[in-house]
Amino acid sequence: MNNKTYFEWIKKLPQNDSLYLSSNCPACGSKGLSYQYFGFEGSDIGWKIIWCNSCYSGVKISRTKIPDEANSIIDDKEQELFLKTHAYLKLIL
Ligand SMILES: [Zn+2]
Repeated sequence: MNNKTYFEWIKKLPQNDSLYLSSNCPACGSKGLSYQYFGFEGSDIGWKIIWCNSCYSGVKISRTKIPDEANSIIDDKEQELFLKTHAYLKLIL
């Protein structure tokens, strides 16, 4: 597998969330990336993971502003559940 670093991912990610679906995976080149925001109650700063559904590579961005229109998971249990159901992802932290 192509082992891309965090920096290489960040460099290639689109500026706008709406472009992820039409972006290519920095690791395998497949088109279409998924993302999910995670937040904290009463704060617009959270974290985000971005991943490829073809090779399951991804990256975690630890401090990021959550756009008003974005869907973010705030509840602890829901965050846990999301990560559990996506445990197959190979995230660069
Ligand atoms: Zn990929």
